[in-house]
Amino acid sequence: QEFGDIFGAIFGGGRGGGRQQRQQRGSDLRYNLELSLEDAVRGKTLEIKVPTFVSCEPCDGSGAKKGTSAKSCTTCHGHGQVQMRQGLFAVQQTCPTCSGKGKVIASPCTSCRGQGRVEKTKTLSVKIPPGVDTGDRIRLSGEGEAGEHGAPAGDLYVQANVRDHKIFVRDENNLYCEVPISFTTAALGGEIEVPTLEGKVKLKIPKETQTGKMFRLRGKGVKSVRSHSIGDLMCKVVLETPVNLSGDQADLLRQLDEKMGKSTIKHSPKETGFFDGVKKFFDDLKS
Ligand SMILES: [Zn+2]
Ligand SMILES: [Zn+2]
Repeated sequence: QEFGDIFGAIFGGGRGGGRQQRQQRGSDLRYNLELSLEDAVRGKTLEIKVPTFVSCEPCDGSGAKKGTSAKSCTTCHGHGQVQMRQGLFAVQQTCPTCSGKGKVIASPCTSCRGQGRVEKTKTLSVKIPPGVDTGDRIRLSGEGEAGEHGAPAGDLYVQANVRDHKIFVRDENNLYCEVPISFTTAALGGEIEVPTLEGKVKLKIPKETQTGKMFRLRGKGVKSVRSHSIGDLMCKVVLETPVNLSGDQADLLRQLDEKMGKSTIKHSPKETGFFDGVKKFFDDLKS
């Protein structure tokens, strides 16, 4: 099945609503399709099962038994509407004989009981274009419900709903992730591996990197389904405090701390400003 247009927001008002009931096309359908982030980003052809109405085969959608056909309604002469007199006024009304269809079926088809359509679960193959996001709709023209008495079918809208991912959060075409780094790598610099949707890549960490710093990996995001521009991957590094330290390891940290304390060089870029701020806060409270 070819997909038609992709709709980002609310799709436009349906067609149909024709004045004459017998021409009314079948209803549009919406199908909620759950997708993994990987499938949404790369695109995929998926099979879906849609409960719907399809044109009745034995009567070819006409509703009339094979070999017979619907006759023009004699009450309304095929117009579907009749004029009724109410006092001085002529009022248009839906024909009571044919319920506005303009036709009367003398011997209805037994498969569809004269409806021209039957309930059926259709299996369809949907091509998901790469880059779709939650809320995007793919229109499959004519794959909605078949209309009654051979009227044209509606459309099927497949609405994408992308599941949460373990690692990545998507915002537009950018991907976000958090990557833990060790205390030592953050202080001295180094190289870490970060995940992308295409596998791991190396990321250079400059020395003196603070926790929460965001690194941008250009072009490692999602390719837009509309503009084909490619987003970035934003990696936030989070400093991990070492746990399960042995006595020796703890001693080394204490030694380091002591040495840094005695040093005349500033080692904590935020500390001075922070404690100045705290002091000012309490001073302001007192005054
Ligand atoms: Zn009629
Ligand atoms: Zn039939």
